[in-house]
Amino acid sequence: MGLPLPSRLEHLIEAADRRRLQGPTGRFAPSPSGPLHLGNLRTALLAWLQARLSGGRFLLRHDDLDLPRQRPGAIEAIEADLSWLGITWDGQPLRQSERTGFYASVLSAFRRGGALYPCRCSRRMLADLSAPHGGWPLYPGTCRDQAVGWGPRQGRLPSWRLRLEPGLLRWREEIGPEGCLEAATQVGDVVLRRADGFLAYHLTSAVDDLLLAVTTVVRGADLWRSTAPQVAVSERLGRPFATSWHVPLWLDERGQRLAKRQAALGLEPLRQEGLDAAAVIGRMAASLELVPTGSRLSAAELLQEMDLASLQVQLRRGAEGLGTLKEGFGIKCPTLRSD
Ligand code: GLU
Repeated sequence: MGLPLPSRLEHLIEAADRRRLQGPTGRFAPSPSGPLHLGNLRTALLAWLQARLSGGRFLLRHDDLDLPRQRPGAIEAIEADLSWLGITWDGQPLRQSERTGFYASVLSAFRRGGALYPCRCSRRMLADLSAPHGGWPLYPGTCRDQAVGWGPRQGRLPSWRLRLEPGLLRWREEIGPEGCLEAATQVGDVVLRRADGFLAYHLTSAVDDLLLAVTTVVRGADLWRSTAPQVAVSERLGRPFATSWHVPLWLDERGQRLAKRQAALGLEPLRQEGLDAAAVIGRMAASLELVPTGSRLSAAELLQEMDLASLQVQLRRGAEGLGTLKEGFGIKCPTLRSD
């Protein structure tokens, strides 16, 4: 399934294989576009619980490549909020902005191996062409078989798309709907590098999860669909994608997800009300029925209270409604082997 890779990249992937043999690794990967709202923090708590209950290490990775959306001080604020809650990570936090060399070498290996093709479709053209498909704009393949060239044209470089052949993209999903989407009809050829040089999340996240030997990815259910292109990237690097937990999003009273712009829902207003970390952890855990309403406990105490199996059961219960994410696709995934 993998492409021929330069030996340096092969070595990094093999080092990650060896790391995985030493034990599980989890991670939390926030985008520092502002302070984390309670929904993000609850996902961080779940990712931490999953890693620690598995006896694994837990990494913090800042997805800080989207510079225009980044807010000064956001990285420090994220680290301070996690620490205040008692969510601890191992080693130095990672920053994607310091890892661009890895992404560049994967992109050139993909390009050499014919996994990418240049695309000169403008956003405007695509808005007219692509039929929205379950909320996911499916690229119609306009540039797929045209030699559009990859030098600058009218001062503009092409974007680079991942060529996906028809077939199922599958991953082991332990919380959300079964991990399976059809590449050609449900995912489409995604952009890995935009014309302006911006590296797509699908590329960077999949490369990092692989090279950092992440064994379970825990993140919000809104990223369930995004897993499919990441599976494709990982498979072209010769390895399956990590096991995934797409956990329920925290919804407000109106049933809408908490958004970053509702900054009032971050920790600061709660601290100003006089709530301490034990009260906030209690509130987060109670919102998932992990503990009774009104509980006060530290993150370390919650860890003592929980075990991996009951955490999974409780989250699956909360995720039942997420089955609707796949409604209408009608694809039946062949059963994944459990070995
Ligand atoms: N940085 C992404 C976000 O905050 C999440 C990445 C991930 O967990 O895969 O939405």
